[in-house]
Amino acid sequence: MKFNVDKCKVMHMGKHNPSYTDKMMGSKLAVPTQERDLGVTVDSSLKTSTQCAAAVKETNRTLGIIRKGIDNKTENILLPLYKSMGCPHLEHCVQMWSPHLKKDLLELEKIQKRGMGHGACPLLGCGCVWGGVLLAAASPSPPPAAYQYQLALERYEWNEVKNVKSIVPMIHVSWNVARTVKISDPDLYKMIKYCLMQSIKHCQVLRETLVRSGKKIAYQGRVKDEPAYYCNECDVEVFNILFVTSENGSKNSYLVHCEDCARQRSTALHGVVVLEQYKTEELMQIYDSFTLAGSPSSR
Ligand SMILES: [Zn+2]
Repeated sequence: MKFNVDKCKVMHMGKHNPSYTDKMMGSKLAVPTQERDLGVTVDSSLKTSTQCAAAVKETNRTLGIIRKGIDNKTENILLPLYKSMGCPHLEHCVQMWSPHLKKDLLELEKIQKRGMGHGACPLLGCGCVWGGVLLAAASPSPPPAAYQYQLALERYEWNEVKNVKSIVPMIHVSWNVARTVKISDPDLYKMIKYCLMQSIKHCQVLRETLVRSGKKIAYQGRVKDEPAYYCNECDVEVFNILFVTSENGSKNSYLVHCEDCARQRSTALHGVVVLEQYKTEELMQIYDSFTLAGSPSSR
């Protein structure tokens, strides 16, 4: 087999790489510091900044085209366009280059803010990049960095304060992460574990209050791929214990509420069905078996 020597390159990665000169058929091989393949730029330092910057640039360009070309600048026109034309730049092979430097994350956040327009929650709004990283964490993929999770949590709490719906249901996602992803970062692990504990405590207190007041709780286990629930009134995430009413007595339209909003309809929860999606033991078991995985360096 004959090689085209001009097209062969050697990239040296790693700080302690001796960077030997490689030769092929008598001529030295080129040593690039960056190489683009399948649309993703790989840097010899393995930092993803170049790729992040390129993605931001492309998305910015697309947003410019959308804004220039579309007269009707209402959210229900711009948002789908951004999601279908802008987001792909940010999501293309993101598993390979998901940002881990804060400055890259902030740049990506800025562009998403621009894409989502004002009033919309920048990142969780469309669930790409780190919203996407978290969502993807529900399926085995690189787990989010500790501060990505923390940022997401903060955003989540902020949303709750502002009554803005978080597209990423953090409690739901945290439980999914605990169940399916091996976490080796101790900070991230601690944060998720704490979030799970708070979630269990919240469910227990709520459960006890309901039982003490004589309200029946019906168990209805989750089905595969069942979505996370949000309160119909205040958009807060409702996890595990759902307060359900049926609208106009119809059997097909059910509304999920948080406890507060359900009690605003009826303090004694008349006409409200309380559903429980996980047994306490089930949650405790997930909690217990969620342990810190050995760090990659110690393997
Ligand atoms: Zn509510």
